[in-house]
Amino acid sequence: MEVINISKISDLTFHNASHYITQKFSKKHDGVDYGTNLKKIPIYPIEDGIVTKVFKDSYGAKIVKVYYPRIDMTFTYGHLDKIYVKKDEKVNNNTKLGLTGKTGLATGIHLHLSIYDNKLKKYIDPEEYSLIYNKEPIIYIVKKGDNLTKIAKKYNTTWQNIYNKNKDIIGPNPNLIYPGQKLYI
Ligand SMILES: [Zn+2]
Repeated sequence: MEVINISKISDLTFHNASHYITQKFSKKHDGVDYGTNLKKIPIYPIEDGIVTKVFKDSYGAKIVKVYYPRIDMTFTYGHLDKIYVKKDEKVNNNTKLGLTGKTGLATGIHLHLSIYDNKLKKYIDPEEYSLIYNKEPIIYIVKKGDNLTKIAKKYNTTWQNIYNKNKDIIGPNPNLIYPGQKLYI
C-alpha cells in the first residue's frame, strides 16, 4: 500500500498559513476555533464542494456552509469578516470563501469551523477527523487540458506525489495523461 500524504483539515482550509486552536471541540462547542494571528486571512474549501448557505446569525456573525459530496459532510465557517461566495456556487480548494474575522459573538479574529457528518447525523471533531480524512482516497478523472502539476495544485499536493501513486496507470512518462484516466490523489 502506498503512503498517502496527510494534509490536516485546518492546513487545507488556511492553505498552510499559520493558525492555532483557541477553543477545542466539546459538548458545548460544536466545532474548533482557530486563531489567525490577529490577521484577517483567506479561507478555502478542503476539496470540491457546493455552497449551501450564506447568512448572518442573530448576533451578526457572517457564516458560510459548504457541502462536500465525496465525504457527505457539511462544513460551517463562522465569524467571517468578508464572504466572497454565493449560495449554490461550486467551489474547490482554490476558491476564496472569505476572510477570517470577529463578526458576531467573538472576542478576537478567528475561524469557527464545524463539521456535520450527514451519515452519522451529528457534529464531529475537525481535529480528530483530520487524522482519517486523507485515508479515504480521492479518485480524479482526467479532463482535457489537464497535466499532473495542474491537478496537484488543485489538491494541494505535488505532481511527484500523484505520479508515484499512479505509475502503473500513467506509465514511464509523467507528461502523458489522457482524458478519462482515473488517478488516485
Ligand atoms: Zn467557536
